[in-house]
Amino acid sequence: MRIETLAVHAGRESDATGAVAAPINLSTTFEREADGSLPRGFVYARTDNPTRRSLEGCLAQLEGGAACAAFASGSAATLAILLALAPGDHVVAPADAYYGTARILRELLEPWGLAVTFVNMADPRAVAAAITGRTRLVWAETPSNPTLAVTDLAAVAALAHGAGAVAVCDNTWATPLLQQPLALGVDVVLHSTTKYLGGHGDLTGGAVVAREDDALFARVRLAQTVGGAVPSPFDCWLLLRGIRTLPYRMRAHCDNAGQVARFLAAHPRVEAVHYPGLPTDPGHAVAARQMTAGGRARFGGMVSVQIRGGADAALAVAARVRLFTRATSLGGPESLIEHRASVEGPASRTPPGLLRLSVGLEHADDLVADLAQALDG
Ligand SMILES: *Cc1c(COP(=O)(O)O)cnc(C)c1O
Repeated sequence: MRIETLAVHAGRESDATGAVAAPINLSTTFEREADGSLPRGFVYARTDNPTRRSLEGCLAQLEGGAACAAFASGSAATLAILLALAPGDHVVAPADAYYGTARILRELLEPWGLAVTFVNMADPRAVAAAITGRTRLVWAETPSNPTLAVTDLAAVAALAHGAGAVAVCDNTWATPLLQQPLALGVDVVLHSTTKYLGGHGDLTGGAVVAREDDALFARVRLAQTVGGAVPSPFDCWLLLRGIRTLPYRMRAHCDNAGQVARFLAAHPRVEAVHYPGLPTDPGHAVAARQMTAGGRARFGGMVSVQIRGGADAALAVAARVRLFTRATSLGGPESLIEHRASVEGPASRTPPGLLRLSVGLEHADDLVADLAQALDG
Protein backbone atom coordinates (compact mmCIF):
# COMPACT_ATOMS: atom_id res chain seq x y z
CA MET A 1 0.00 0.00 0.00
CA ARG A 2 1.11 3.53 -0.71
CA ILE A 3 1.79 5.99 2.07
CA GLU A 4 -1.48 7.95 1.57
CA THR A 5 -3.40 4.73 2.23
CA LEU A 6 -1.19 3.70 5.15
CA ALA A 7 -1.58 7.14 6.74
CA VAL A 8 -5.36 6.69 6.78
CA HIS A 9 -5.54 3.01 7.74
CA ALA A 10 -2.40 1.96 9.62
CA GLY A 11 -2.96 1.48 13.35
CA ARG A 12 -6.74 1.70 13.05
CA GLU A 13 -8.17 -0.84 15.44
CA SER A 14 -11.86 -1.69 15.53
CA ASP A 15 -13.37 -2.22 18.95
CA ALA A 16 -16.50 -3.95 20.21
CA THR A 17 -18.68 -0.93 19.34
CA GLY A 18 -17.67 -0.72 15.68
CA ALA A 19 -16.56 2.91 16.19
CA VAL A 20 -14.94 4.19 12.97
CA ALA A 21 -12.94 6.87 14.79
CA ALA A 22 -10.76 5.05 17.30
CA PRO A 23 -11.52 5.52 21.00
CA ILE A 24 -8.88 6.77 23.45
CA ASN A 25 -7.99 4.15 26.04
CA LEU A 26 -7.09 6.00 29.24
CA SER A 27 -6.79 3.01 31.57
CA THR A 28 -3.56 2.89 33.56
CA THR A 29 -3.99 -0.74 34.56
CA PHE A 30 -5.39 -3.98 33.08
CA GLU A 31 -7.18 -6.89 34.72
CA ARG A 32 -5.64 -10.31 35.29
CA GLU A 33 -7.54 -13.61 34.96
CA ALA A 34 -8.18 -15.75 38.04
CA ASP A 35 -5.04 -17.73 37.25
CA GLY A 36 -2.98 -14.50 37.17
CA SER A 37 -2.53 -14.46 33.40
CA LEU A 38 -2.98 -11.41 31.15
CA PRO A 39 -4.58 -12.86 27.99
CA ARG A 40 -5.05 -9.44 26.34
CA GLY A 41 -1.37 -8.59 26.67
CA PHE A 42 -1.59 -5.34 28.63
CA VAL A 43 -0.38 -4.89 32.22
CA TYR A 44 0.22 -1.23 33.00
CA ALA A 45 -0.02 1.84 30.76
CA ARG A 46 3.64 2.95 31.02
CA THR A 47 4.74 -0.44 29.69
CA ASP A 48 2.17 -0.61 26.90
CA ASN A 49 -1.36 0.59 26.25
CA PRO A 50 -3.82 0.13 23.38
CA THR A 51 -3.72 3.71 22.04
CA ARG A 52 0.08 3.85 22.07
CA ARG A 53 0.32 0.41 20.50
CA SER A 54 -1.91 1.60 17.61
CA LEU A 55 0.30 4.64 17.11
CA GLU A 56 3.51 2.60 17.19
CA GLY A 57 2.12 0.19 14.61
CA CYS A 58 1.16 3.10 12.38
CA LEU A 59 4.56 4.83 12.59
CA ALA A 60 6.45 1.56 11.97
CA GLN A 61 4.43 1.04 8.78
CA LEU A 62 4.88 4.63 7.57
CA GLU A 63 8.67 4.33 7.87
CA GLY A 64 8.82 0.73 6.66
CA GLY A 65 10.34 -0.42 9.96
CA ALA A 66 9.96 -3.56 12.06
CA ALA A 67 9.33 -1.80 15.37
CA CYS A 68 8.52 1.58 16.88
CA ALA A 69 8.66 3.08 20.36
CA ALA A 70 6.75 6.30 21.06
CA PHE A 71 8.05 8.86 23.54
CA ALA A 72 6.87 11.98 25.35
CA SER A 73 9.02 14.21 23.10
CA GLY A 74 11.51 14.02 20.27
CA SER A 75 14.23 14.79 22.81
CA ALA A 76 13.21 11.85 25.03
CA ALA A 77 13.37 9.62 21.94
CA THR A 78 16.84 10.99 21.08
CA LEU A 79 18.06 10.29 24.60
CA ALA A 80 16.66 6.73 24.48
CA ILE A 81 18.65 5.94 21.32
CA LEU A 82 21.88 7.31 22.76
CA LEU A 83 21.39 5.52 26.10
CA ALA A 84 21.51 2.27 24.12
CA LEU A 85 25.26 2.95 23.79
CA ALA A 86 27.82 2.39 26.56
CA PRO A 87 30.24 4.82 28.21
CA GLY A 88 33.42 4.90 26.11
CA ASP A 89 31.55 4.50 22.81
CA HIS A 90 32.09 7.14 20.13
CA VAL A 91 29.39 8.99 18.16
CA VAL A 92 29.75 11.07 15.00
CA ALA A 93 27.13 13.81 14.91
CA PRO A 94 26.39 16.79 12.68
CA ALA A 95 27.92 20.14 13.66
CA ASP A 96 24.55 21.67 12.73
CA ALA A 97 22.42 19.14 14.63
CA TYR A 98 19.15 20.38 16.15
CA TYR A 99 20.46 22.36 19.11
CA GLY A 100 18.54 20.23 21.60
CA THR A 101 20.24 17.12 20.19
CA ALA A 102 23.63 18.82 20.51
CA ARG A 103 22.82 19.74 24.11
CA ILE A 104 21.85 16.12 24.93
CA LEU A 105 25.21 14.98 23.54
CA ARG A 106 27.32 17.72 25.15
CA GLU A 107 25.58 18.30 28.47
CA LEU A 108 24.12 14.88 29.32
CA LEU A 109 26.09 12.19 27.51
CA GLU A 110 29.66 13.50 27.26
CA PRO A 111 29.76 13.83 31.08
CA TRP A 112 28.35 10.26 31.22
CA GLY A 113 31.26 8.96 29.14
CA LEU A 114 30.21 9.10 25.49
CA ALA A 115 32.80 10.52 23.08
CA VAL A 116 31.34 12.75 20.36
CA THR A 117 32.85 14.25 17.21
CA PHE A 118 30.79 16.93 15.46
CA VAL A 119 31.37 17.10 11.69
CA ASN A 120 29.91 18.55 8.52
CA MET A 121 27.58 15.60 7.85
CA ALA A 122 26.88 16.88 4.33
CA ASP A 123 30.50 15.99 3.46
CA PRO A 124 30.97 12.18 3.45
CA ARG A 125 34.79 12.63 3.51
CA ALA A 126 34.51 14.51 6.82
CA VAL A 127 32.34 11.70 8.19
CA ALA A 128 34.83 9.05 7.06
CA ALA A 129 37.71 10.99 8.67
CA ALA A 130 35.87 11.24 12.00
CA ILE A 131 35.07 7.53 12.34
CA THR A 132 37.34 5.70 14.80
CA GLY A 133 37.65 2.11 16.00
CA ARG A 134 35.26 3.02 18.85
CA THR A 135 32.55 4.59 16.69
CA ARG A 136 29.25 2.84 17.37
CA LEU A 137 26.75 5.34 15.97
CA VAL A 138 26.56 7.96 13.23
CA TRP A 139 23.77 10.50 13.67
CA ALA A 140 22.40 12.36 10.64
CA GLU A 141 19.69 14.97 10.37
CA THR A 142 18.56 16.01 6.91
CA PRO A 143 17.60 18.62 5.91
CA SER A 144 19.36 20.10 8.92
CA ASN A 145 18.19 22.74 11.34
CA PRO A 146 18.37 25.67 10.70
CA THR A 147 20.58 25.83 7.59
CA LEU A 148 18.89 23.00 5.64
CA ALA A 149 22.15 21.25 4.78
CA VAL A 150 21.45 17.95 3.00
CA THR A 151 23.15 14.70 4.02
CA ASP A 152 23.49 11.80 1.56
CA LEU A 153 21.91 9.14 3.77
CA ALA A 154 22.94 6.13 1.66
CA ALA A 155 26.59 7.30 1.71
CA VAL A 156 26.60 7.97 5.46
CA ALA A 157 24.87 4.65 6.24
CA ALA A 158 27.48 2.80 4.17
CA LEU A 159 30.32 4.55 6.03
CA ALA A 160 28.75 3.71 9.40
CA HIS A 161 28.25 0.06 8.46
CA GLY A 162 31.83 -0.17 7.18
CA ALA A 163 32.95 0.65 10.72
CA GLY A 164 30.44 -1.69 12.39
CA ALA A 165 28.38 1.29 13.60
CA VAL A 166 24.68 1.99 13.27
CA ALA A 167 23.29 4.89 11.26
CA VAL A 168 20.50 7.02 12.72
CA CYS A 169 18.50 9.66 10.86
CA ASP A 170 16.43 12.42 12.43
CA ASN A 171 13.63 12.46 9.83
CA THR A 172 11.54 15.14 11.57
CA TRP A 173 11.79 17.76 8.82
CA ALA A 174 11.37 15.51 5.79
CA THR A 175 8.74 13.13 7.25
CA PRO A 176 8.23 9.62 5.83
CA LEU A 177 6.27 11.14 2.94
CA LEU A 178 9.39 12.75 1.45
CA GLN A 179 12.22 10.61 2.76
CA GLN A 180 12.46 6.93 3.71
CA PRO A 181 15.79 6.57 5.51
CA LEU A 182 15.38 2.85 6.31
CA ALA A 183 15.08 2.08 2.59
CA LEU A 184 18.37 3.97 2.05
CA GLY A 185 20.23 1.75 4.52
CA VAL A 186 19.76 3.73 7.74
CA ASP A 187 19.10 1.52 10.79
CA VAL A 188 17.05 3.78 13.05
CA VAL A 189 14.76 6.76 12.40
CA LEU A 190 14.04 9.45 14.99
CA HIS A 191 11.04 11.79 14.94
CA SER A 192 9.90 14.76 16.89
CA THR A 193 6.23 14.02 16.28
CA THR A 194 5.55 17.46 17.76
CA LYS A 195 6.18 18.82 14.27
CA TYR A 196 4.71 17.62 10.94
CA LEU A 197 3.44 14.23 12.09
CA GLY A 198 1.22 15.80 14.75
CA GLY A 199 0.82 18.66 12.33
CA HIS A 200 -1.43 20.96 14.34
CA GLY A 201 0.89 22.45 16.97
CA ASP A 202 -1.07 20.89 19.80
CA LEU A 203 0.95 17.93 21.05
CA THR A 204 4.49 17.07 22.14
CA GLY A 205 5.87 13.68 21.16
CA GLY A 206 8.69 11.62 19.75
CA ALA A 207 9.27 8.25 18.15
CA VAL A 208 12.02 5.78 17.29
CA VAL A 209 11.47 3.43 14.35
CA ALA A 210 13.96 0.60 13.78
CA ARG A 211 14.56 -1.43 10.63
CA GLU A 212 15.10 -4.56 12.75
CA ASP A 213 13.55 -5.48 16.09
CA ASP A 214 17.09 -6.17 17.31
CA ALA A 215 19.26 -5.78 20.42
CA LEU A 216 19.65 -2.03 19.89
CA PHE A 217 15.88 -1.58 19.63
CA ALA A 218 15.45 -3.69 22.79
CA ARG A 219 17.57 -1.08 24.62
CA VAL A 220 15.39 1.72 23.21
CA ARG A 221 12.28 -0.17 24.37
CA LEU A 222 13.87 -0.55 27.82
CA ALA A 223 14.54 3.20 28.02
CA GLN A 224 10.89 3.76 27.08
CA THR A 225 9.21 1.31 29.44
CA VAL A 226 11.62 1.53 32.39
CA GLY A 227 12.82 5.12 31.85
CA GLY A 228 9.18 6.10 31.49
CA ALA A 229 9.26 9.19 29.21
CA VAL A 230 6.06 7.95 27.54
CA PRO A 231 3.34 9.90 25.71
CA SER A 232 -0.16 10.09 27.18
CA PRO A 233 -2.92 8.10 25.45
CA PHE A 234 -4.54 11.41 24.49
CA ASP A 235 -1.36 12.63 22.76
CA CYS A 236 -1.07 9.27 20.95
CA TRP A 237 -4.65 9.66 19.78
CA LEU A 238 -4.10 13.25 18.60
CA LEU A 239 -1.02 12.09 16.73
CA LEU A 240 -2.88 9.26 14.99
CA ARG A 241 -5.51 11.79 13.99
CA GLY A 242 -2.88 14.19 12.62
CA ILE A 243 -1.10 11.45 10.66
CA ARG A 244 -4.27 10.68 8.66
CA THR A 245 -3.75 13.89 6.62
CA LEU A 246 0.09 14.01 6.64
CA PRO A 247 0.65 13.25 2.92
CA TYR A 248 -1.73 16.01 1.79
CA ARG A 249 -0.55 18.56 4.33
CA MET A 250 3.07 17.91 3.33
CA ARG A 251 2.38 18.49 -0.37
CA ALA A 252 0.88 21.90 0.46
CA HIS A 253 3.76 22.77 2.83
CA CYS A 254 6.23 21.92 0.02
CA ASP A 255 4.37 23.93 -2.64
CA ASN A 256 4.08 26.99 -0.38
CA ALA A 257 7.70 26.78 0.80
CA GLY A 258 8.92 26.56 -2.81
CA GLN A 259 7.02 29.72 -3.72
CA VAL A 260 8.28 31.57 -0.61
CA ALA A 261 11.89 30.47 -1.26
CA ARG A 262 11.79 31.65 -4.89
CA PHE A 263 10.35 35.02 -3.83
CA LEU A 264 13.00 35.50 -1.14
CA ALA A 265 15.87 34.45 -3.43
CA ALA A 266 14.97 37.29 -5.82
CA HIS A 267 14.64 39.99 -3.15
CA PRO A 268 17.41 42.65 -2.90
CA ARG A 269 17.38 42.73 0.94
CA VAL A 270 18.09 38.99 1.08
CA GLU A 271 21.68 37.79 1.37
CA ALA A 272 21.02 34.05 1.08
CA VAL A 273 18.15 31.56 1.07
CA HIS A 274 18.63 28.04 2.41
CA TYR A 275 16.17 25.72 0.69
CA PRO A 276 17.20 22.51 -1.08
CA GLY A 277 14.47 23.03 -3.68
CA LEU A 278 16.36 25.96 -5.20
CA PRO A 279 18.54 24.65 -8.07
CA THR A 280 21.43 26.83 -6.78
CA ASP A 281 21.32 25.27 -3.29
CA PRO A 282 24.39 23.13 -2.47
CA GLY A 283 22.13 20.29 -1.30
CA HIS A 284 19.84 20.34 -4.34
CA ALA A 285 21.24 17.39 -6.28
CA VAL A 286 21.25 14.99 -3.32
CA ALA A 287 17.85 16.21 -2.10
CA ALA A 288 16.33 15.83 -5.57
CA ARG A 289 17.00 12.09 -5.53
CA GLN A 290 16.61 11.49 -1.77
CA MET A 291 13.44 13.50 -1.09
CA THR A 292 10.55 12.43 -3.31
CA ALA A 293 6.82 11.90 -3.07
CA GLY A 294 4.97 9.95 -5.73
CA GLY A 295 8.10 9.91 -7.89
CA ARG A 296 8.44 13.70 -7.80
CA ALA A 297 11.24 15.57 -6.00
CA ARG A 298 9.86 17.55 -3.04
CA PHE A 299 11.85 19.64 -0.60
CA GLY A 300 9.84 20.21 2.57
CA GLY A 301 8.16 23.12 4.27
CA MET A 302 11.11 24.79 6.03
CA VAL A 303 13.00 27.76 4.57
CA SER A 304 15.79 29.79 6.20
CA VAL A 305 16.67 33.24 4.94
CA GLN A 306 19.62 35.48 5.76
CA ILE A 307 18.75 39.19 5.73
CA ARG A 308 21.40 41.73 4.66
CA GLY A 309 22.52 43.76 7.67
CA GLY A 310 22.77 40.97 10.27
CA ALA A 311 20.82 40.48 13.49
CA ASP A 312 19.25 43.96 13.73
CA ALA A 313 17.96 43.85 10.16
CA ALA A 314 16.61 40.32 10.62
CA LEU A 315 14.89 41.19 13.90
CA ALA A 316 13.33 44.27 12.22
CA VAL A 317 11.86 42.07 9.47
CA ALA A 318 10.54 39.62 12.06
CA ALA A 319 8.98 42.54 13.98
CA ARG A 320 7.04 43.69 10.88
CA VAL A 321 5.35 40.43 9.80
CA ARG A 322 1.57 40.34 10.28
CA LEU A 323 0.52 36.91 9.04
CA PHE A 324 3.58 34.90 10.13
CA THR A 325 3.61 34.32 13.90
CA ARG A 326 6.85 34.98 15.81
CA ALA A 327 7.25 31.64 17.59
CA THR A 328 9.52 28.61 17.75
CA SER A 329 8.66 25.11 16.45
CA LEU A 330 7.41 24.06 13.04
CA GLY A 331 5.10 21.80 11.11
CA GLY A 332 1.72 23.26 12.04
CA PRO A 333 -0.92 24.82 9.76
CA GLU A 334 0.11 28.38 10.67
CA SER A 335 3.33 29.93 9.34
CA LEU A 336 5.96 30.73 11.96
CA ILE A 337 9.06 32.94 11.86
CA GLU A 338 11.99 32.79 14.25
CA HIS A 339 15.34 34.46 14.76
CA ARG A 340 17.29 31.32 15.65
CA ALA A 341 20.45 32.97 17.00
CA SER A 342 18.41 34.74 19.73
CA VAL A 343 16.72 31.49 20.70
CA GLU A 344 19.93 29.44 20.73
CA GLY A 345 21.81 31.98 22.88
CA PRO A 346 25.50 32.98 22.98
CA ALA A 347 26.84 29.52 21.99
CA SER A 348 24.79 29.57 18.76
CA ARG A 349 26.59 28.82 15.49
CA THR A 350 23.68 30.15 13.43
CA PRO A 351 24.34 33.21 11.21
CA PRO A 352 23.05 36.32 13.08
CA GLY A 353 20.95 37.53 10.13
CA LEU A 354 19.12 34.21 9.75
CA LEU A 355 15.35 33.88 10.07
CA ARG A 356 13.81 30.41 10.01
CA LEU A 357 10.38 30.06 8.44
CA SER A 358 7.97 27.20 9.00
CA VAL A 359 5.81 27.72 5.94
CA GLY A 360 2.26 26.79 6.80
CA LEU A 361 -0.92 25.96 4.95
CA GLU A 362 -2.18 29.49 4.25
CA HIS A 363 -2.37 30.64 0.61
CA ALA A 364 1.18 31.14 -0.68
CA ASP A 365 0.31 34.54 -2.21
CA ASP A 366 -0.75 35.84 1.20
CA LEU A 367 2.49 34.57 2.76
CA VAL A 368 4.60 36.19 0.03
CA ALA A 369 2.68 39.48 0.40
CA ASP A 370 3.35 39.48 4.13
CA LEU A 371 7.07 38.86 3.66
CA ALA A 372 7.20 41.54 0.94
CA GLN A 373 5.74 44.22 3.21
CA ALA A 374 8.00 43.12 6.09
CA LEU A 375 11.14 43.26 3.91
CA ASP A 376 10.20 46.55 2.21
CA GLY A 377 8.92 48.23 5.37
C1 LIG B 1 11.93 19.73 17.49
C2 LIG B 1 13.01 18.84 17.01
C3 LIG B 1 13.57 17.88 17.86
C4 LIG B 1 13.21 17.76 19.32
O1 LIG B 1 11.89 17.38 19.52
P1 LIG B 1 10.98 17.79 20.79
O2 LIG B 1 9.68 17.14 20.50
O3 LIG B 1 10.93 19.29 20.82
O4 LIG B 1 11.67 17.27 22.01
C5 LIG B 1 14.54 17.04 17.32
N1 LIG B 1 14.94 17.15 16.04
C6 LIG B 1 14.42 18.08 15.21
C7 LIG B 1 14.93 18.15 13.81
C8 LIG B 1 13.45 18.95 15.65
O5 LIG B 1 12.95 19.88 14.81
